[in-house]
Amino acid sequence: MIKIALLGSTGSIGRQVLKTVDRYPDRFKVVSLACEKNAELLSGQINRYRPETACIKDSEKAYKIREIPKETTLYTGENAYLHAISEDADIVFVAVSGFAGLAPTLRAIEMKKNVALANKESLVAGGEIVMSLAEKNGVKIIPVDSEHSAIFRCLNYDFKAKFRRLIITASGGAFRDLTKAETAKKTAAEALKHPNWNMGKKITIDCATLANKGLEVIEACRLYNAPLAKVKAVMHPESIVHSMVEFDDGAVMAQLGYPSMEVPIQLALTYPETAETDVPRLDFSAMTLNFGEIDTDKYPCFSLALKAFEAGDNYPCAMSAANEAAVGLYLEDKIGFYDIAAAIEYVLGKVERLKATEENLGYTDFAARAAVYQKFGR
Ligand code: NDP
Ligand code: MG
Repeated sequence: MIKIALLGSTGSIGRQVLKTVDRYPDRFKVVSLACEKNAELLSGQINRYRPETACIKDSEKAYKIREIPKETTLYTGENAYLHAISEDADIVFVAVSGFAGLAPTLRAIEMKKNVALANKESLVAGGEIVMSLAEKNGVKIIPVDSEHSAIFRCLNYDFKAKFRRLIITASGGAFRDLTKAETAKKTAAEALKHPNWNMGKKITIDCATLANKGLEVIEACRLYNAPLAKVKAVMHPESIVHSMVEFDDGAVMAQLGYPSMEVPIQLALTYPETAETDVPRLDFSAMTLNFGEIDTDKYPCFSLALKAFEAGDNYPCAMSAANEAAVGLYLEDKIGFYDIAAAIEYVLGKVERLKATEENLGYTDFAARAAVYQKFGR
């Protein structure tokens, strides 16, 4: 029985983790659940999974959680999530969105827990400290993001395996068939209609701007200890090839499947074993696969992410924070599509260079958001 601490249980990934638990109730047990504010959903999850610990950050919403089973203790407030990183857990599943994922990831590693990491922003902002602490504590960071899970599988679950290049595929998001001028006028409601994947709002906007692919290139560099030159992103509108690994002899391994997070989520919990999922099987008789270069003029957020990674220290953190703040404003229809890139560029132009310690990253995240709200919030 694998005991799971699930942070971000009410989100798109979190709910799918619970579907995996439902599929194999004899293999998995949820020992803790944590969310930010969705008390209604958390309440239902508590009663269904009866964890030892449940946490909700927003104390004002906690009153909505009634009928707590006697085996569950409920915690609320800013640091409530710390209780969810339970001593009892075998694995901590970090499905929290945004920079908020960094602290629980670090605390889990400090407690020597293996981490199934969906939260890419923690690796972008704090990749150096996350990976070095994991190495020091003998903890595994198991990728959940579909591209990185595909690479993990192609490398036979060996983080130290040799490779020539990692090739990450990008769907292009909601506006992939539009020109730059047409894309510029598009609203968040339109950007949220992703052609291939059904995900949380922030990442769906990141897919439309390709900030997501920039974050994922950085995520791959961190997870697989690769320089930027060894990680390539390519357009692949069908989202069937989830990523590829090229080896010394020119051979390329790819992982294919219809777009579904079920496979990478389950693999993170079962690897090196695999088990049945409900995902439809590929039909090769009715399939065409296309690949192409990324149009960096149309997708400036992609290049800005790579530029931030090259700058090092706290720059990737500033980039990711500026992006998160700007995406929030775009979702509220306060700024336009290309203002997201403008906000990132603005922040990268004024960030105070600091070493990537946890404290400095917290400050950088705060300062970057403040700069975006001040300049772009209307
Ligand atoms: P969602 O917005 O759907 O869910 C986010 C979850 O995190 C919610 O449960 C939310 O709680 C919780 N949360 C947010 N802030 C806090 C906090 N401070 N403390 C505790 N819980 C918090 O996001 P997704 O599920 O789409 O994405 C989660 C992560 O996984 C992201 O980093 C994303 O990039 C990554 N990812 C997602 C994919 C997908 O298919 N969705 C694919 C690949 C990666 P509440 O509901 O109460 O607000
Ligand atoms: Mg991905």
